[in-house]
Amino acid sequence: MAIATVNPATGETLKTFEPLDAGAIEERVSRADRAFREYRLTPFAERAALMHRAADLLEADQDAIARTMTTEMGKPLAAARAEAAKCVKAMRWYAEHAEAQLADEHPAPADVKDSGAARAFVRYRPLGTVLAVMPWNFPLWQVVRFAAPALMAGNTGLLKHASNVPQTALYIEELFRRAGFPEGAFQTLLVGSGAVAGLLRDERIVAATLTGSEPAGRSVASIAGDEIKKTVLELGGSDPYVVLPSADLDKAVRTAVTARVQNAGQSCIAAKRFIVHTDIYETFMARFVERMSALKVGDPLAEDTDIGPLSSAQGRSDLEELVDDATHRGATALCGGGRPLHLPDGWFYEPTVLTGITEEMRIHREEAFGPVATVYRVDGLDEAVELANDTSFGLSSNAWTRDSAEQERLTRDLQAGGVFFNGMTASHPGLPFGGVKRSGYGRELAGHGIREFCNATTVWFG
Ligand code: NDP
Repeated sequence: MAIATVNPATGETLKTFEPLDAGAIEERVSRADRAFREYRLTPFAERAALMHRAADLLEADQDAIARTMTTEMGKPLAAARAEAAKCVKAMRWYAEHAEAQLADEHPAPADVKDSGAARAFVRYRPLGTVLAVMPWNFPLWQVVRFAAPALMAGNTGLLKHASNVPQTALYIEELFRRAGFPEGAFQTLLVGSGAVAGLLRDERIVAATLTGSEPAGRSVASIAGDEIKKTVLELGGSDPYVVLPSADLDKAVRTAVTARVQNAGQSCIAAKRFIVHTDIYETFMARFVERMSALKVGDPLAEDTDIGPLSSAQGRSDLEELVDDATHRGATALCGGGRPLHLPDGWFYEPTVLTGITEEMRIHREEAFGPVATVYRVDGLDEAVELANDTSFGLSSNAWTRDSAEQERLTRDLQAGGVFFNGMTASHPGLPFGGVKRSGYGRELAGHGIREFCNATTVWFG
């Protein structure tokens, strides 16, 4: 894929970039490695001051970077501004909490004594230079949720961002540089995915994190595994959204729409499979379809747009294939099901609600990365749980019920990295985020995230 900014609302190529050559890559990797040797020794207070400064700069740049993101990947401007604000919050959160999260841990005195030590503790030390392979869907947030904890822990970072968001990628490098982080602490590598294997094989790169598709995750994890290097993977999801009779139905419907169409549906934690109890099915569906049909699809730079274009021609044709496969096999589109006729340019797709889904349809098993909801009708909780877990993914899950016994059962049985009741899945700096099954492994955010790229060192005194 060429490294370029192509406006998804028009299909126009606005700017292209030459990928870095081998010499330029070498220069940056060696700079990152050199920077780590000094940077790892900086006190938390110094790192926190730099991170606060980066957060302040980003806050001031909010409008400009939001426009860049919208132009590069098509999310509505208001959503892009909100993404920048969320990054500011996460940077400040890690600036304030990293030191406590990485404080020495003291095992129970009985265990210390049992080990024969006079004294023992665990110290979290940084690992080194970490490679981040990141996607375009939240082009600032996906990077910041890696970079803020990694830098606060004393690591250095190299970013291989998606090829369609080069200007956002360069902005992030520049942001950390302007904030005063040492040269080499955080750099962007404008390279295609073909360069990733070589980077993973480089001994100066000690670990990697990837957010993206399953094939990309498999490739990175297998090479890193061969090199015995730690990875964190955040891959796709097909999160269930279970609605049971005790739900506040109005709220459940309103939230269902947002949970499905946020970011034009291109979110790993978007609710994708709606599993609705038969007692409330008709009411839920009537209101859901009405709200989905009323959404405004259009220019992402216009303030009243709900859904912008998909990020790429490929992304849209992948989605079209999934929907066409389902309708050819008997699914019904209660709204949408194709391109909006009034928007002939750009990669738009109508908000779509599909019913009559069966097991042989691809959309039953694969992730629909666009504004397409599949709705299933179930007779009870057992069937809801079984259907919710009938997927190779396990990122997060949503359930609407006010019944505490049902909540307990779902918390026990839903196979996912999160169970969100009576609200939609979202990431927060202070709560761990990540999946199970083919949605990946490891956790981002909170104390869990910052410790992923640390060496938990046992220090023992005889
Ligand atoms: P990709 O996984 O292809 O892209 C994500 C990142 O991985 C990009 O930086 C990409 O680089 C890089 N990459 C791709 N292939 C490899 C590889 N073999 N080795 C190393 N790095 C690689 O996602 P797509 O944009 O193609 O989207 C395809 C599907 O992936 C979506 O429909 C969705 O299902 C899922 N996805 C999930 C995301 C999430 O948030 N979990 C985000 C994006 C996609 P480059 O851009 O240069 O190809």
